Amino acid sequence: MGLLYENDDLSALDYVRQDYLRELQLERLRRIVRHAYDHVELFRNRLNERGITPDDIKTLADIAKLPFMKKIDLRDTYPFGLFAVPMSEIVRLHASSGTTGKPIVVSYTREDLEVWMQVIKRAFASCGLSRNDIVQVAYGYGLFTGGLGAHYGAEALGATVVPTSGGNTKRQIMLMRDFGTTAICCTPSYFNFMIEQAAAENIDMHDLPIRVGVFGAEPWTNAMRGRIEEASGIKAYDIYGLSEIIGPGVAIECKCQQGMHIFEDHFYPEIIDPETGEVLPDGEFGELVITTLSKFAMPMIRYRTRDLTRIISEPCACGRTLRRIDRISSRSDDMFIIRGVNVFPSQIETALLSIEGTTPNYNIILYTENGMDNIEVDVEISEEMFSDRVRAMEALQKKLTSAVEGLIGLRVKLKLVAPNTIQRSEGKARRVIDRREKA
Ligand code: ADP
Ligand code: ZN
Repeated sequence: MGLLYENDDLSALDYVRQDYLRELQLERLRRIVRHAYDHVELFRNRLNERGITPDDIKTLADIAKLPFMKKIDLRDTYPFGLFAVPMSEIVRLHASSGTTGKPIVVSYTREDLEVWMQVIKRAFASCGLSRNDIVQVAYGYGLFTGGLGAHYGAEALGATVVPTSGGNTKRQIMLMRDFGTTAICCTPSYFNFMIEQAAAENIDMHDLPIRVGVFGAEPWTNAMRGRIEEASGIKAYDIYGLSEIIGPGVAIECKCQQGMHIFEDHFYPEIIDPETGEVLPDGEFGELVITTLSKFAMPMIRYRTRDLTRIISEPCACGRTLRRIDRISSRSDDMFIIRGVNVFPSQIETALLSIEGTTPNYNIILYTENGMDNIEVDVEISEEMFSDRVRAMEALQKKLTSAVEGLIGLRVKLKLVAPNTIQRSEGKARRVIDRREKA
């Protein structure tokens, strides 16, 4: 049992030898499977139906014998049906924003919160932050995991935390300037809004001490990163997480920014074929499945995240030994099918932002016309472009149309819209509006 109680306070775990890591994972996996079997009825029943017991987990590969868990399991057992410890052990509840329906509830023991704090602390360190930083946490505080998650991690790091939560954008900018904020945590779309708001007040973020952004909670593209970095002069890092697993802090980019290191001493990753459930080798794209190796209040075993990515197992130049996951291109639920073609919003974002004169504000509208499904893309253009001649606008419109059509392989109706007409987001952006008639 020695390994389990090792002090994993240190980010030394980011650099741990692979053989040690696998041993640690196996020991933790066996422990958590046993714990879930003993305390979660749904899990025990499923193992019993398959004639498996926790003792059948002898190697890491044996994980493939275990059934998957899905979001529907959290809904069906709402609110507390998957808890694996008595309520007296639970010190915190969170609920997901419920992008799709009823919220789901997650819980933490004191030790679970400690793990969460440690992984976020390691995540911040990976973005080059330290006790000398002033970290503005502009993720929402409350049931959403973003705010409090980032908050305690930044405190654990010893940084100075400014807990602004989401919203009140003018005040965010004022505090950012007056307090000399050096790092900010929020969604990338919210930071875009802040850049805009600052510009409206004649503040150029390049002139402020802010130098790092830790952005996540929604899909965003490298093209968006380019826009953000150029407009603000900061370095923008991608952080990944989800409430079901722990919240933000499951994986984080390092200075190399070639994928996110996953804290696999706590979160065991697999990639599966979303159709067949078959485990795919490292390097292949599929759905990310995560097992929480050290979360006791609500263990998630082989949880299907619906997020699409791949595992990168090649060594990273930063020296961390933790494997990486590629940028989450999309959630499988975000994909839409138009006339038989699979389209991801991220493809459209990449196409739009590859062309000058656009802003990061756009909407994708799906609609039905004469019984056919179609896509309309509304994109806001910059002030300069807007006041320009009609000719230039027409040329831009054509260029954007062909960029989008070239990437997705479908005809689109592309509209240039006036500055400040598309709704801004202070949290997770909703860019797809589905007005299709259901058959
Ligand atoms: P909800 O499911 O209600 O949106 P969460 O706040 O738990 O609740 O959201 C987690 C989801 O957010 C992830 O499963 C993923 O789809 C998305 N997400 C989080 N971080 C990132 C990121 N860095 N890149 C892309 N998507 C992300
Ligand atoms: Zn690295």
